Amino acid sequence: MLKVTKFGGSSLASAEQFKKVASIVLADKTRRYVVPSAPGKRHKQDTKITDMLYQCYEETAKKGEISPVFEDIKERYSSIIEGLELDLDLEKDFEIIKLSFLARAGRDYAASRGEYLNGKILAKYLGFDFIDAAEVIFFNNDGSFDAEKTNDVLSERLKNSDYAVIPGFYGVMPNDTIKTFSRGGSDITGAIVARAASADEYENWTDVSGFMIADPRIVDNPKSIDVITYRELRELSYMGATVLHEDAIFPVKKAGIPIHIKNTNAPDDEGTLIVTHTDKKSSSNVITGIAGKKDFTVLTLEKDMMNEEKGFGRRLLQVLERNDMSFEHLPSGIDTMSVVVSDKELEGKEDIIISELLQLTSPDSISIEKNIALIAVVGRGMKNVKGTAASVFMALAENDINIRMIDQGSSELNIIVGVDNADFEKSIRTIYAKLVK
Ligand code: ASP
Repeated sequence: MLKVTKFGGSSLASAEQFKKVASIVLADKTRRYVVPSAPGKRHKQDTKITDMLYQCYEETAKKGEISPVFEDIKERYSSIIEGLELDLDLEKDFEIIKLSFLARAGRDYAASRGEYLNGKILAKYLGFDFIDAAEVIFFNNDGSFDAEKTNDVLSERLKNSDYAVIPGFYGVMPNDTIKTFSRGGSDITGAIVARAASADEYENWTDVSGFMIADPRIVDNPKSIDVITYRELRELSYMGATVLHEDAIFPVKKAGIPIHIKNTNAPDDEGTLIVTHTDKKSSSNVITGIAGKKDFTVLTLEKDMMNEEKGFGRRLLQVLERNDMSFEHLPSGIDTMSVVVSDKELEGKEDIIISELLQLTSPDSISIEKNIALIAVVGRGMKNVKGTAASVFMALAENDINIRMIDQGSSELNIIVGVDNADFEKSIRTIYAKLVK
């Protein structure tokens, strides 16, 4: 058994948090490779080290002298080192960082120092090896991630180290400059290390006890999801629910490694396990999660005998393609076909789309419904249980919510309902109350 553990910024924001992390890591000998983020916020008004580094770098570049924020950054790290009573001196590192800032080593270099320094502290505190991500995580010249080279070099390197800390968020370009992933990218590093180590599990420690069935800003105190499949997660995160960086899923999903989302501040909570496949039902509920997004438009074309007309659908979609638009859903009836597009995609293109649709498909009518919110009810369990869709529709009807559109994915993994933007929150609460026991 081998686990790769990634800790987010709030898990490593202070000496006190570091202590929690160490007790988690050291409690389980299989937690062999640790990927830290930079120190995050200690409280709501606090600033993340990563943001301080960006600010410091920009101010330094502008003025040609080191920004005062540099001292604040040093101070944050010193207070962690002192709080842990560590015999560690980062003065030399800070000197190099200062000179590099003055020499304009780049924004990415600047931001990456948050993880680099935190990794050094954590390695020392745990008694683990420190592996600089710049030696094992590679990018191509065009800025894309070089997955294969990274996997080759990193897996070799890990063979020589039983216990190591590898800082998250950055790697190196072919010309030796530092490059970072997008914000929140330590999740990606964790997944890359898990793949290279052929880990049995990728633990992602954060400050929530896993994914919630619904957005806690909408539903009061929602239950958390115990097990979710990658496909369900993709459906939900596409519809706006995320705790994890999207790109972080790919390397581990491909390798069939489960991700376990855990809470550093409540390590005994079960968290959420993300797996490729499971026969296990999600708790006692048929559904796994509910998520949604506002601001869609539904274009509905009606034409008598549409069912017999060959190529109608192709012509409709051709109009979208020509105008460089993607669509979300395509519900259809015998003589109607609707296409659901996000308002963002449609912006500024509405007139041309309508006129081309009229020209190419000669419909009897086109109707446009705006301000539609889409809600996805997702659950692998729905396939084997009758009446889930009926319950969703009944619950909405009973609560006086008008359903503007229905679509069920062909995998029977989700039911999508469209409601007025104004009914969005109420709909989610209603569905949750009906289906989550
Ligand atoms: N520290 C980086 C950020 O704030 C990366 C991470 O935390 O995952 O985006």
